[in-house]
Amino acid sequence: MHWSKSALAALATAGLAALPAAAQQAPPAPSARFVVVLDAAHGGSDSGGRLASGQPEKTATLALSVRLRSLLAARGIAVVTTRESDATIDPNRRAAIANHAAAQVCLSLHASESGSGVHLFASSLAPVQPTRFAAWKTAQAAWVTRSLALAGVLNSALLHAGINVTLDRSSLPAVDSMACPAAALEIAPERGPDGSITAEPDDPAYQARVAGALAAAVLEFRSEASKP
Ligand SMILES: [Zn+2]
Repeated sequence: MHWSKSALAALATAGLAALPAAAQQAPPAPSARFVVVLDAAHGGSDSGGRLASGQPEKTATLALSVRLRSLLAARGIAVVTTRESDATIDPNRRAAIANHAAAQVCLSLHASESGSGVHLFASSLAPVQPTRFAAWKTAQAAWVTRSLALAGVLNSALLHAGINVTLDRSSLPAVDSMACPAAALEIAPERGPDGSITAEPDDPAYQARVAGALAAAVLEFRSEASKP
């Protein structure tokens, strides 16, 4: 049998009209999917700093990214990473991956031998109203308010896990171009009251505690975001 185009169109219209109202509602927007971008800083020819163990920063950040990715995936959260291996990736590429993912949380992960606990950074860009065409280098400006809220949730979860936190704002090339609630964090040694190091930034048990706190924070941020 041959159907003319107009007959098909008429059939389609009639079919839709016959459906109950609820069935005609649009499916949930793709943005309803909660996506987290994990950016293991440095990599490839960019080793980052060097840790006391002799391990380069790039290796410690990838290890933390892998731990956190598996914790989030186990909780049913979609994760996109900027790297899965020892690859050189420039800041623009990192931001492009994050922006393509339309993420609800973007975390840029660093490691450092100086300081203590976790150093948490939000972009130092001044907040602006979102515009249709945001400048690439300052795309984060439209998201700074949400990013500060994210930093607050991360701070609480880390403190709750007994991890010392330093909050700051900084100009960060990859994060400043990200169009998502974003924070950079640097895992520094854990120190006792006398300042002596009790866990290095690449200590697996310490990384697991930090990753656990970060995963809890992401879940908390998601539940806050879904409130009307
Ligand atoms: Zn770094």
